Amino acid sequence: MSDATRTGSDLIIVIGAGVAGIMTAYALAKRGLNVAVIDALSGPAEMCSRANAGIIAVGHAKAWAGPGAPAAMINAFAGRDPSVKVTRLTDPTLWRWGVEFLLNCSPSAHRRNTDKLQRLSRYSRDLAAAAEVEMNLPAEIRHQGGLYLFQDKAQFSTYVASIEDHGDGSVEVLGRDALIAREPGLSGMSGRLVGGLFSATDSVGDCRLFTQRTTAYLN
Ligand SMILES: Cc1cc2nc3c(=O)[nH]c(=O)nc-3n(C[C@H](O)[C@H](O)[C@H](O)COP(=O)(O)OP(=O)(O)OC[C@H]3O[C@@H](n4cnc5c(N)ncnc54)[C@H](O)[C@@H]3O)c2cc1C
Repeated sequence: MSDATRTGSDLIIVIGAGVAGIMTAYALAKRGLNVAVIDALSGPAEMCSRANAGIIAVGHAKAWAGPGAPAAMINAFAGRDPSVKVTRLTDPTLWRWGVEFLLNCSPSAHRRNTDKLQRLSRYSRDLAAAAEVEMNLPAEIRHQGGLYLFQDKAQFSTYVASIEDHGDGSVEVLGRDALIAREPGLSGMSGRLVGGLFSATDSVGDCRLFTQRTTAYLN
């Protein structure tokens, strides 16, 4: 149904009460629409939004699908990457998604998608900050930037190249010495570090608390 044909008495159902579902409900309610959120669990933010790291990492956001991703995907499918678990290997939806993912791994698709992701990230960060003020929530999101440490030279180079391509000037690339000068507490492990990034526009907060407080506000 288009917005034009919707009336105030229509009920929109959002499935999933993680941060994405609750913020979707918030945006719909702001437009004067009736919203109900349904979740399989007992309350909001009980899955990924419960224990995610709460980092709003805008400065170096980049599309996961990219030239290096097919090799990572093969490792994941073969069970060689402990951080990724692939289930339901016989589900055709997984294979359709896989083909689409691979089609987006070319350098040009990666550049295009990262550009979009960067814009979306900045927009979402600003929206979350504005929502916090509008709902008069305790200032949970801390906007003091983020310092990211790298131990792997190749990974660091990939991020630096991506920032040079897509950045908005808010990310400072720090070689090892500059990193230690900025954060002397790291000097004890300087031998293991290759560099770092300081992203002035990144924020951090408790995603679960934010989601729960937004739910309480909407109720
Ligand atoms: C360990 C970890 C760390 C992370 N750290 C970060 C981070 O620092 N920054 C960041 O941006 N992202 C991070 N993420 C990604 C994180 O997943 C997202 O940031 C965000 O929390 C996802 O929110 P969501 O609402 O999409 O999903 P979820 O919070 O998982 O919510 C989905 C909801 O849908 C419900 N649901 C699912 N299926 C059904 C169904 N059929 N019927 C009814 N309800 C259903 C679930 O119960 C759940 O409540 C991290 C993820 C993990 C796992």
